[in-house]
Amino acid sequence: MNRVLPASHEATRRHIRLYVERSVMRRLPSAFVVLLLGALLTVSAAAQQGKLNTTYTVAVANTQASLFHVTTEVRDLSQPGLEVSLPVWTPGWYTVENYAKNILRFKVTDANSGARVPFSWTHKQTWNISTVGRSAIKIEFDYRADVLALNQAKINQDFAFFTGTQLFLRLAGHTSEESTVRFQVPENWRILSALKETADQLVFTAPDYDTLVDSTTEMGNFDVETFEVAGKPHYFAATPAGAFSTEKRLKFVEMLKKVARTESAIFYNNQPFDKYVYFYFFMPPESNAGGALEHANSHVAFAPPGDAATPEGLIETAAHEFFHLWNVKRLRPADMMPYDYSREQETTFLWISEGFTNYYANVTMMRAGFRSRRDFLNRVAGAALGVESNEARAYISPAASSVSTWLGYDTPRAFEISYYTQGENLGALLDLSIRHDTNGAVGLDDLMRLLYRTTYERGRGFTGQDIIDALRILTRRDYVDFLSRYASGVEVPDYARIFAYAGYGFEFGVIKRARLGITARPTPEGLRVTGVAAASPAETAGLRSGDVITRIDDSDVLRLDTFDDRIGQIIALTVIRDNRQLELPLTIGSRDERTFSLIEVEKPTRAQLQVREAWLKQGV
Ligand SMILES: [Zn+2]
Repeated sequence: MNRVLPASHEATRRHIRLYVERSVMRRLPSAFVVLLLGALLTVSAAAQQGKLNTTYTVAVANTQASLFHVTTEVRDLSQPGLEVSLPVWTPGWYTVENYAKNILRFKVTDANSGARVPFSWTHKQTWNISTVGRSAIKIEFDYRADVLALNQAKINQDFAFFTGTQLFLRLAGHTSEESTVRFQVPENWRILSALKETADQLVFTAPDYDTLVDSTTEMGNFDVETFEVAGKPHYFAATPAGAFSTEKRLKFVEMLKKVARTESAIFYNNQPFDKYVYFYFFMPPESNAGGALEHANSHVAFAPPGDAATPEGLIETAAHEFFHLWNVKRLRPADMMPYDYSREQETTFLWISEGFTNYYANVTMMRAGFRSRRDFLNRVAGAALGVESNEARAYISPAASSVSTWLGYDTPRAFEISYYTQGENLGALLDLSIRHDTNGAVGLDDLMRLLYRTTYERGRGFTGQDIIDALRILTRRDYVDFLSRYASGVEVPDYARIFAYAGYGFEFGVIKRARLGITARPTPEGLRVTGVAAASPAETAGLRSGDVITRIDDSDVLRLDTFDDRIGQIIALTVIRDNRQLELPLTIGSRDERTFSLIEVEKPTRAQLQVREAWLKQGV
């Protein structure tokens, strides 16, 4: 309920403006218009409450205790009260984290007199501050930043990292106003932020609240490579310093340039940012929020420490995250436009926002020359197999799995089948269908472009109707049936027919893969076991959830996916359980895995070759 007030004020303001412009101005005598306008402007000014002058100061206050000290100074106040709140989630990472739980010593003072200002805590992340007769207030708190993760803030001896959602208070009714951010950091620490720079190296700005909180910042000691793509500056940051060698960094930068050019070309070379920042951590995350996360003009990624990190191993993730610049950061489901930071914000379209992004990472890898056509096709086949070999596909549609993500990334039920794989599969099938409808002239690129123009560039999010309309414009065909069967429904697509559009048949096969029955996630101490499958080799070996694997045989390279050629052999797991070290011998089991490959038909028709060439075209 707290959220409703500012929104309705904004709606009233818009309504008044339209009313004045459209109906009143033309007809009434001018003196009356002046009178009426005067009255309306009074109402409008009260609703608008005057622009505020807001400065956030982020101080790295204590590297031992991992504390930020955050000050929000609000000036030019002319309203009786101010509602401030902290987001409960970070866009892109769809779980509620309640950042307010990290706040300590919240207090409000008059910025002029220093007197304490009363406030009430009205919602778990919301405070109402009385500002009657005050023109300036200062809100201060300490923020415990002790988890290195994509959606958390962290301070240690070497660096500090945060995303705006964790530290910046939202001032109700003032979310479209500019703000200033000042940093206070230990001596010799550098600052790299996605926020807009100023002449002062410690001061940055944001044009509005959405931009402010979707910006990531790192301070401390880390390596940075600066480069340009199409006249725009890009910064690649590698933490800790020295973790990713200069040689690897330079090679990776060349690959990132190709990704940026390839993907911008899909959106008519529109690059919707002034600068772009890549934050890469070569160390394990300290929660389940590992992997990578997109922001308005940056992304953050975790990479393996040591020699395991290679430019070739990281580039597909970068291609995925960079594509989000357009798909989800701008071209976004209407359900998430604008972002509501106070609660879950479900949409049935993550299969487009994430799944198509996965598909485009594969497309980009091929177009940029990092992956052969054959490997591209294998990946397409892999997505189809991933969906079709999962029994949950029969009762969880791509639309449904999109919604279920909010149940938590650790919840097996919600992640029985993933909108990433489902959407990646549908991306390929839709691409082929569109190309078939148009003899190769038009493809999924055109759909993304058209949706971008007709929705994002007109200031709104997309709906199912927008997709149907855009597809009708591009193909002159009705895709309602396609979408209701395969996206909101659980029907098995007619793979034979659709892959035949490009002259491919498909073949199922079976291969033997190693089976351990362990799910685990990397932690600084080792691989933390999060699950042991029933009747599995791991269960027989006596492994338990919560164990931390520190060595496999005599190696500290802790990978569980490299045992396909050791089926039937015994490996020795060294684990820590309740502060004790155990040795557990485990006999590697096996399981049959279905394979699915795309095979060229013997005599493709001209039409099939036309679609194939358009689909597999390389280069920008
Ligand atoms: Zn993504």
